[in-house]
Amino acid sequence: MKVKVAINGYGTIGKRVADAVSLQDDMEVVGVTKTRPDFEAKLAAKRYPLYVAKPENVELFEKAGIEIQGTIEDLLPKADIVVDCSPNKVGAENKAKYYEKAGIKAIFQGGEKKDVAEVSFNALANYDEAKGKNYVRVVSCNTTGLTRLIYMLKTNFKIGRVRATMLRRVVDPKEDKKGLVNGIMPDPVSIPSHHGPDVKTVLPDVDIVTTAFKLPTTLMHVHALNVEMKEAVKPENVISVLDQEPRIMLVSAEDGFTSTAKVIEFARELRLRYDLYENVVWKESIGVDGNDLFVTQAIHQEAIVVPENIDAIRAMLELAERDESIRKTNETLGIQKVF
Ligand code: NAP
Repeated sequence: MKVKVAINGYGTIGKRVADAVSLQDDMEVVGVTKTRPDFEAKLAAKRYPLYVAKPENVELFEKAGIEIQGTIEDLLPKADIVVDCSPNKVGAENKAKYYEKAGIKAIFQGGEKKDVAEVSFNALANYDEAKGKNYVRVVSCNTTGLTRLIYMLKTNFKIGRVRATMLRRVVDPKEDKKGLVNGIMPDPVSIPSHHGPDVKTVLPDVDIVTTAFKLPTTLMHVHALNVEMKEAVKPENVISVLDQEPRIMLVSAEDGFTSTAKVIEFARELRLRYDLYENVVWKESIGVDGNDLFVTQAIHQEAIVVPENIDAIRAMLELAERDESIRKTNETLGIQKVF
């Protein structure tokens, strides 16, 4: 029997999670929601049973001639779990308004505060903590990228403090209402950026401070990390550890990966919507100077949290142990060594 998954919010993350759920043999999408009857709602209705996230908007969908199956209140009783992919902070409102009343398990995204859920989640780092839980938050794209990398380093080497700079894409490609056309914006201007404290919600014992800047690009984030090593390590040791983890993709500038533009050009050949579920780490960036390890990675913000949402569903409904869930998710999403 497949578990029934509702997706509340069919935007950048929601549509990708819906497609990923559809690829699993132990879960199915019972419905997705939109608040507005735009082209994304029209496409959603062709692919999945469509429901209206705001009951007061039903008439708008009827006027637009889009077939709907009801509202979020009709959808939730049909599901075993809801993945909330609504905009930042709206997930917490949906929890109070709908999920608690319906008594349904819910997954939230990184735009929510950590106290929306019992556990902040990353599949590699703390799958077991989400087992059987009712409310779980999948951490943001930047935090997922940092957590995976730091988890691999701390489970294979003795590490000390981590200092990292996030060079953030300013908006997603579709966002035409805001942006930064010319300039680099410290965001925030003072330390720390929220990413370090957010990593600690999953890896509490890591000494990490982060800074962040917004750049006029939409493709990917880039992270520059400096990790104190408490044992002698060579770049090749780190490369061989990272090479073992399918959710980390090692690329080389020698192969023409000179920027995020080239990484995305490669991904356009690889996957639908050029989705990169993996951390993309430049091999040549892995360098050691005394006790300091340096690593640079790129993160495709629209896709990296998708496998984590699938694994969170399995953990909360206790469908599989960590390694089995990760293996299935990787296999269905095509996460495997490319080079
Ligand atoms: P998005 O593209 O703006 O999509 C949001 C979706 O939620 C839209 O389909 C919207 O429908 C729907 N929605 C609006 N109000 C709603 C409500 N009251 N109840 C239910 N659904 C509602 O946003 P997103 O980028 O996918 O972000 C979703 C979450 O994922 C946020 O917490 C964000 O921080 C997190 N996240 C985003 C990224 C990223 O880079 N995009 C990466 C990682 C995590 P309408 O268009 O019909 O209003």
